[in-house]
Amino acid sequence: MANLMRRLDEVAKAERARRVVGLSVWLGALSHISAEHLAEHFEQAAAGTIAEGARLDVTVSDDLHDADAQEIVLESVEVEI
Ligand SMILES: [Zn+2]
Repeated sequence: MANLMRRLDEVAKAERARRVVGLSVWLGALSHISAEHLAEHFEQAAAGTIAEGARLDVTVSDDLHDADAQEIVLESVEVEI
């Protein structure tokens, strides 16, 4: 989650965003976290940051053999400039 938040912050800074409106996250089959659980953690981590209240779209993979199966990948970020 810390990694995800750091990458989100990098993207927001690069885009000179005032706030993060939404983000898409891809959840590897072996990432050991459910979409619901991820959403809970995101809500907590985003509180008080420019990503507070951002819409979170999660794609859950069931491909155990994917090279990123253990990863949580930030796929896209929608910002308000
Ligand atoms: Zn937890």
